[in-house]
Amino acid sequence: MRVAQLGSGTPEIAVVAGVHGDEPCGVRAIERLLDDRPTVERPVKLIVANEAALERQVRFVDEDLNRAFPGSPDAKTHEGRLAHELVDELDGCLTFSMHSTQSHADPFAIVNGVNETAKDIVPQLPVAAMVETSNFAEGRLFSSIDTIEVECGLQGSETAAENADRLTRSFLTAVGALPGDTVRRDLPVYRLTDVIRKDQADTYEVFVENFTEVEAGAPFAAADGEKQVADESFYPVLMSSNGYRDVFGYSAEKVDVLETPAAAD
Ligand SMILES: [Zn+2]
Repeated sequence: MRVAQLGSGTPEIAVVAGVHGDEPCGVRAIERLLDDRPTVERPVKLIVANEAALERQVRFVDEDLNRAFPGSPDAKTHEGRLAHELVDELDGCLTFSMHSTQSHADPFAIVNGVNETAKDIVPQLPVAAMVETSNFAEGRLFSSIDTIEVECGLQGSETAAENADRLTRSFLTAVGALPGDTVRRDLPVYRLTDVIRKDQADTYEVFVENFTEVEAGAPFAAADGEKQVADESFYPVLMSSNGYRDVFGYSAEKVDVLETPAAAD
């Protein structure tokens, strides 16, 4: 784990990259901040988390770090021990953690719950949606630390790295660490309702777009040509043919649209 800081004093905000070793976009954003060294109005902690996995360009060494929290100093796995160290390092910090996916190009935010912090900060980020994990947060960073996760774009793409940079700067502006103003936008909010499993197969197909409603009765995915049909309508989230080993992704419901209050004169 690499830990650095912008500004002096004890940080109450942190930016984390490389929770997954095959998602380099956030690391680029942090390296750029360290090169530029912008003057900050509040100290910011910067962390590159899973250096061993990044070096090998794999998601993890022993187990998924974002399912290993809170971890333990005596854990048998690299990520189990790292999770504990990361929680220690992030204690008391509002944390911004960057990821990328194989499922969706447009950035979106993932939060444990839609609390006041999420409602304030996330509409100021250049994201198209906010996803609440609710029951599916076990072992993730935000089960231990107050965290806003962002999916920056497609894994390994140049666009994801550029998005990571823009998202980080917007976050740091929204929390008052960087000077300037952010743009607030109306933001749809989705809540994960279920995991969409996939059977062992040679080929997987997904027929639907993430964040676009799937009607009841519509086929949405297939394993070796065997179609899965929606029992009831849902919104697919993080759904891709090859992103995860045993799941296609998640189903979600649309719960709200956070509207930007009209500016007062
Ligand atoms: Zn990730």
